[in-house]
Amino acid sequence: MAVIGFIGLGNMGGPMAANLVKAGHKVTGFDLVPAALDALKAAGGSVAASASEAVKGAEIVITMLPAGEHVRQVWLHQGGLIDVVKDTKPLLIDCSTIDVDSARTATAAAAEAGMTMLDAPVSGGTVGAANGTLTFMVGGDEEAFAKGLPILQGMGKNIFHAGGPGAGQAVKICNNMMLAINMIGVAEGFILAEKLGLDWMKLHAICTTATSNSFALSNYCPAPGPTPASPANRDYAPGFMTALMLKDVKLSQAAAEATGVATPMAALAASLYQATVDAGDATKDFSVVFRLLENMKRG
Ligand code: NAD
Repeated sequence: MAVIGFIGLGNMGGPMAANLVKAGHKVTGFDLVPAALDALKAAGGSVAASASEAVKGAEIVITMLPAGEHVRQVWLHQGGLIDVVKDTKPLLIDCSTIDVDSARTATAAAAEAGMTMLDAPVSGGTVGAANGTLTFMVGGDEEAFAKGLPILQGMGKNIFHAGGPGAGQAVKICNNMMLAINMIGVAEGFILAEKLGLDWMKLHAICTTATSNSFALSNYCPAPGPTPASPANRDYAPGFMTALMLKDVKLSQAAAEATGVATPMAALAASLYQATVDAGDATKDFSVVFRLLENMKRG
């Protein structure tokens, strides 16, 4: 049993913190949204009035925040968590998906204060978070990974040590770039299939056993019907918000720019998710790109 401070109790952090409670840990959480605090209380955790209060006496501090700017603000800004916990020196774990630079900056600041930080982004969506079946891709040194492993096992099923600091974020950015492109491919297939007079259920049944099978197709179909748990069946309630997917594809494009790698499909995917956001669907699940494509005319 560990004493854990958990900051960021949103679509992912909420169920992850609840699973840590279920695993027998003593979890104190903080979020800016009162409803998120109520949910952790209902799950048996404790809540605090601020991030600093939530991490008091913690052996492990976990953050699950939207983007790099929030992570830098919570950890590094004046009165940030690294300063707050520098005397007690817990293990620090950031599970948010952020740019590699912010991850390495936070890790370096932690090291300067005598602490270790793991970058441990996740894959598996809100269903994986609720079921405790997330995949974790972890960057950091071996010793810190070994210490964090039993905690991460309370929230996930597949826990990988990807390499040194920032390696977890690097894997995550590549993973989401591939998913972003793949989701659009599946959406285009279903739209074309309908115009060809095919039944979506049949298309799905056939293609999940054929060469186009993928996570987006088999678990997260963007067309309503074939995968009952997917956001498409609840008017694209997230899930994983389009704004966050756009953030991740942009992270991949910044990394591609920095390394001189050509990623033409991801560049096009970024423009389609941007158009989805511009159409007012930033807070819908990213599979709502299906609707944008459905309404596009061949030109
Ligand atoms: P979310 O917006 O639902 O949750 C983020 C939470 O952080 C919110 O509740 C917000 O109030 C809180 N927050 C923001 N600033 C804060 C601060 N200063 N102090 C305390 N709380 C603060 O987002 P999410 O879907 O839970 O995603 C979180 C991270 O996980 C993102 O980086 C995202 O890219 C990544 N991710 C999401 C999914 C998914 O399917 N939703 C899957 C894998 C990874």
